Amino acid sequence: MLPKLFSFTHFRKNASASPFVSHTFKTKDLKPFRITHFQKKGGSSASSGSFASSTSFTSLGRNPRVTNFEFHVSNFARSAAAHLPHAIIARRAGKSRESELRMTARILDGNAIRDQIFSELSAEIRQLAARGIRPGLAAVLAGDNPASKLYVNSKIAACAKLGLASFLLTPPATITTAELLSLVQELNRRDDVDGILVQVPLPPQVDSKRILDAVDPAKDVDGFHPYNVGHLVAGRPTLVPCTPAGVMEILRRSNIPLEGASAAVLGRSDIVGKPMALLLMHANATVTVCHSKTRDLPGVVRRADLVVAAMGRAGMVTPDYIRPGATVIDVGQIVVTDPAVAERLFANFPERLAKFRAKGSILAGDVHPDVAKVAGAYTPVPGGVGPLTIAMLMSNTVKAARLRRGADAARESGRPAEASAAAEAAIKR
Ligand code: NAP
Repeated sequence: MLPKLFSFTHFRKNASASPFVSHTFKTKDLKPFRITHFQKKGGSSASSGSFASSTSFTSLGRNPRVTNFEFHVSNFARSAAAHLPHAIIARRAGKSRESELRMTARILDGNAIRDQIFSELSAEIRQLAARGIRPGLAAVLAGDNPASKLYVNSKIAACAKLGLASFLLTPPATITTAELLSLVQELNRRDDVDGILVQVPLPPQVDSKRILDAVDPAKDVDGFHPYNVGHLVAGRPTLVPCTPAGVMEILRRSNIPLEGASAAVLGRSDIVGKPMALLLMHANATVTVCHSKTRDLPGVVRRADLVVAAMGRAGMVTPDYIRPGATVIDVGQIVVTDPAVAERLFANFPERLAKFRAKGSILAGDVHPDVAKVAGAYTPVPGGVGPLTIAMLMSNTVKAARLRRGADAARESGRPAEASAAAEAAIKR
């Protein structure tokens, strides 16, 4: 029988049946302990309402370095985790002194942040509409890669939701570099197109670099053009690649402090790792960029207050990589089809494992789900960074429209200085 040293009450809204949810707690004023048993007691039904429970746990002694505590909650919905953080009141049994434990594992909900951005964009799109401007996005989908089709369709659907114009161009997989170049140049000339998105990968016979470089930098809503990359390096306002821009929105809107923070970016690709590192550096974080040749990756990552993982390696970032309390952003999106990998990742998440077994595949990130026990805040996969990528594409399209059309209007009225000021101001917003 375990010694019953403490009892606590755990409040949570809208709890419903679900598998384990693991949390990490920190306390400054209680002796280190680990909760070893959880038992639901009375209170609400399993599907809704508030919830009270009690548990027993053992002291781990007086080791002052132990500051994190594991807490496994059974019979809760994973969706309930969205209500975090919530209060934990701890009470020493038989004594009146109450201490508050702060749970640190906060879920950074990408869907909620995406919705917030969409509602801000809607207001802006209405204002532009009042001036007769309807921003438009052209998407070029060459060939029939199913994943690319899915991505492009979701981007077109987002345009429809926000009331942006969209144009889907679907040249065949046999298109040549010259043909695709002329298609892009045509889009560059069109006045109703503010943003051009060329979905990669392009068919193998196409020179992708030449195509991406042919996109007018003012319409380069992916932020891949060397002109925009140069502006990003120099810290000038520009169209920024969507995924890292989305990560910055998550961090900003979740009040994650960046100034002076130590950040590890895992991955150095042109579309995620490098721009991510630059954005964090411009936000005054001290950035370490890691890659496949980094020595002692776990040791390097463990020193970071903020970890951004963008490697495409399912669940590689395990709890031992993470400094307790660190913020962990998971950019990785990997479709797992190997049962052994699914077992390794979701051993503590039977609901997800069941989903995998039913479907034969599941979406995972670079970060092992058990990291939630150690991190201070983290983005889940799915529902973390993914929704922000599309939100930032929409935001870049609106920004590009403001920039181009605001500047055009001033230029046409013979006010070139005002045109460049309008361009600068538009892109800063
Ligand atoms: P990428 O071009 O393949 O780059 C992967 C990077 O990770 C490379 O820099 C590579 O290092 C590094 N890396 C690979 N294995 C590693 C290891 N074992 N240890 C340390 N570093 C390692 O991939 P990407 O396009 O940046 O995408 C990365 C992930 O993000 C993918 O899962 C992708 O699907 C996902 N993604 C998600 C979104 C979204 O909307 N959520 C958007 C874009 C990408 P080297 O440079 O040394 O090879």
